[in-house]
Amino acid sequence: MGPGWQSGQMRQARDLLFLWNAWVQIPTLACMRRAKWHHLGHDRCTVPIYEASSPRGVVPLLKTLMSSYCTNDCKFCMFRSSRRIDRYRWEPEELAKIAIHLWEMKKIKGLFLSSSFEGDPDETVERQLETVRMLRRDGFTGYIHLRLMPGTGMEKIKESMTLCDRIGINIEFPNKELYEEMKGGPIDFSQDVMKRMEQISRIARKECQADVDTQIVVGIEDYDDEILKKTEWLYKKLNLARVYYSGFEPIPDTPLEKHPPCPKLRELRLYQTSFLLRDYGFKLDDMVFDGKGMLPLDEDPKFLAAKTADLFLDINEASYLDLLRVPGIGPVSARNILEERPLRDEKQLRSIGVNLKRARPFIFLKGTQKTLADEKVYRS
Ligand code: SF4
Repeated sequence: MGPGWQSGQMRQARDLLFLWNAWVQIPTLACMRRAKWHHLGHDRCTVPIYEASSPRGVVPLLKTLMSSYCTNDCKFCMFRSSRRIDRYRWEPEELAKIAIHLWEMKKIKGLFLSSSFEGDPDETVERQLETVRMLRRDGFTGYIHLRLMPGTGMEKIKESMTLCDRIGINIEFPNKELYEEMKGGPIDFSQDVMKRMEQISRIARKECQADVDTQIVVGIEDYDDEILKKTEWLYKKLNLARVYYSGFEPIPDTPLEKHPPCPKLRELRLYQTSFLLRDYGFKLDDMVFDGKGMLPLDEDPKFLAAKTADLFLDINEASYLDLLRVPGIGPVSARNILEERPLRDEKQLRSIGVNLKRARPFIFLKGTQKTLADEKVYRS
């Protein structure tokens, strides 16, 4: 690998990655607290690396589009076909070489590869798959997350599932009507998106292959209760590993350029609620919405659910699922409580990971020397 190809292709990597970054960042709770990109200096240019969160910590990813040429004209997107922008397309071999190079340098641990829609879903995905095949052939054992196109054929889906760690198709909107209004192209929401996701999920469950995820755009004529109803269905029925929300940002020279952006706090409340549905045993009916079907922005959804349910439980008697309903207690601290019971005081609770500031109004210690219930202040 000579420095010539490296600098030229790194520059292209930078351009495509910057386009991607401007278009959509996958927000997570951590992302809202700190920047998720850092820049890797290389020769005469820099490559932005995306820091994805995982249960095992931060995972630096090369995150890019296979192509920014698109035949669709979606109203919200910077890559819509009618928009005049510079466009780029990777050659699979170039991208594979760069990914391997960065991986061998230990600058990335994986690749997130999406693409604009270049007319034929199978042809678009074939170019992504070519890259992935080369990577695996050349010994790349890093993480690969592939975003497939709506309508991708089953053969390509099955191959993707054997080569990648995670795959998915963006459902984009919580219902068919909004999808059809916003997406400018011949994609059938029921067949090409939802049915495909059901098929992918069936294969993933049966053959324990790649994880499955999707993404929903938030902030264009939608409501939190509808988005979360779809999210609950995706987690419970399709067993998705993750539903991402992408807050709408108006893009100049698109039909929605004057539409207000989605508040960051709304994304945060949606993520918090989606984790309660996925990991904490909550149902949508447990959540509190305002009269318009929106989550209140000024209060944490778990706190609101506990307050509305008048939650007040004995920490030494409560079941695992009941403990998970307490603000300030998560899966790890709930398991610790079960292992360490009987618990006697706040110090013990704190030492096993309970956030007492949040939990106090909702818990007490019965039959011990000190009961939190006796301290009225905790219920005020
Ligand atoms: S299909 Fe739509 S959302 Fe995807 S890149 Fe093309 S214009 Fe953008």
